[in-house]
Amino acid sequence: MEKTLIIVKPDAVEKNLIGSILNFFETKNFEIIQLEMMALSDEMLNEHYHHLTDKPFFPEIVEFMQSLPVVVATLQADNAVEKVRNLVGVTDPSEAEEGTLRKIHGTDVMHNVIHASDSVDNARAEIKRFFG
Ligand code: UDP
Ligand code: MG
Repeated sequence: MEKTLIIVKPDAVEKNLIGSILNFFETKNFEIIQLEMMALSDEMLNEHYHHLTDKPFFPEIVEFMQSLPVVVATLQADNAVEKVRNLVGVTDPSEAEEGTLRKIHGTDVMHNVIHASDSVDNARAEIKRFFG
């Protein structure tokens, strides 16, 4: 069994999609093994998006991710990291495949509904970051 981390982003919280997104994964046989609603600190976001801190749009990402509390969850399944990334879709919702969460609910490249870990190593680090 593999673990991965998702974050239901503020745009999805705003649109009352928390339950729907968790249900989407539960019906696909992912087990929710950790779950918490939390406000993300500057420090958490600097670590979580360390690969983007030098981008001109980084302050906007921080503002967006702090605009409402988010829902952070650890999901467990065989091959969970890759499966969840595939169900989430690519970063830009307009380029995401039909049926993916970002295609269905996303607005634009920033407001794309959900974060999902992109590798097993990053999943481990992210689960530790958010759940200790
Ligand atoms: N992002 C953005 N503009 C970009 C690239 C990324 O606003 O050009 C935001 C977007 O919310 C994305 C997050 O930064 O989900 C993290 O970017 P990453 O490249 O890691 O994409 P992801 O792994 O979320 O698909
Ligand atoms: Mg990423």
